[in-house]
Amino acid sequence: MKAVAVFPGRPNSAHLAELPMPSLRDVPGDRGVLVKLLRVGVDGTDREIHAAEYGTAPEGSDFLVLGHESFGRVEAVAPGVTEFQPGDYVVATVRRPGTSLYDRIGMQDMTTDEVYYEHGISHLHGFLTEYYVEQPEFLVKVPPGLQHVGVLLEPMSCAEKGIHQAFEIQRRLRVWQPRRAAVMGAGTIGLLATLALRLRGFEVTTFARSARPTLNSDLVEALGARYESLRARPLMEVAREFGPFDLIYEASTSAAVAFESALALARNGVLVLTSVTGAGGSLEIPADRINLEFVLGNKVMVGIANAHREEWEMGVRDFAHAEAQYPGWLTRLLTHPVHGLENFPLLFDRLTTSCGAVKVYCEVAPM
Ligand code: BGC
Ligand code: ZN
Repeated sequence: MKAVAVFPGRPNSAHLAELPMPSLRDVPGDRGVLVKLLRVGVDGTDREIHAAEYGTAPEGSDFLVLGHESFGRVEAVAPGVTEFQPGDYVVATVRRPGTSLYDRIGMQDMTTDEVYYEHGISHLHGFLTEYYVEQPEFLVKVPPGLQHVGVLLEPMSCAEKGIHQAFEIQRRLRVWQPRRAAVMGAGTIGLLATLALRLRGFEVTTFARSARPTLNSDLVEALGARYESLRARPLMEVAREFGPFDLIYEASTSAAVAFESALALARNGVLVLTSVTGAGGSLEIPADRINLEFVLGNKVMVGIANAHREEWEMGVRDFAHAEAQYPGWLTRLLTHPVHGLENFPLLFDRLTTSCGAVKVYCEVAPM
């Protein structure tokens, strides 16, 4: 079967590879589930892997199959599988357990291991291919009524993790009643975080670079959230008018924006950092002020990576809620389909050059 792969460390090395068809027997204990891929999304991580800035091949392989945002349909199950049956729609989680205590209790998203295993990213082949075989523990069921937006669940799981973790942390306050939230960034994750926060009743201000109107600003406003361009107005001016914010979800991909947003956080607030930034940058920040306000205001700053299975399931429930509350909104994120694995160069073109793209994805097979 065909797969889209790169040679990690070699820029622009994307190519079609030939893989053996996986077998139900690849999973021990009669627990295999064979999944046919229907759609696979790509994002900034794929762009970085393609540029050879990130990504590691599995042991014993010189190539890495890309793709961590999957959506597929169960084709066959081994006799020991009761959780799924052929015809079910599923997404696969991304990270697999290593060896730390967290990994051993199913919390590999919180691993303390140096090496982490992520499909399509780190040490495991990804889903830009035709089929995969997986054990049920790493699959999440998507109801048939959500099949048209299932490919958005991986980024949604990251949005959900940030918000879920914020609430987990804030249990320390016993009576936390957050009302105002800010989202930094209006890319796929920023938009999905805006959605999840609106569904929880927050008043949301979403910040992005571009001046409105854009598709992204329209999408923010369609949720009843406020869109603010950082080009039009400085963050702190907006924060004085509509903040301070009880929860800030940072997904701008800019560390400068992340630290500036720290100054817009309310007392007892929580700032969730999710941007994977290049390791080389440095920056002058009002360190004394940020430090003092965090100390005197009992504020929290937390980093978030990957997602727990529970947060994928929250994503499924929020998608159902979203389709009822904001019908058709999620579909508007699916801006740039590419038909067929063999057209993979278009995936990278659209990732690097398209303005107006929210989600670029491959239609691997017809739904
Ligand atoms: C993926 C996450 C992953 C992270 C770091 C993101 O693009 O969506 O699942 O943990 O990259 O590799
Ligand atoms: Zn990703």
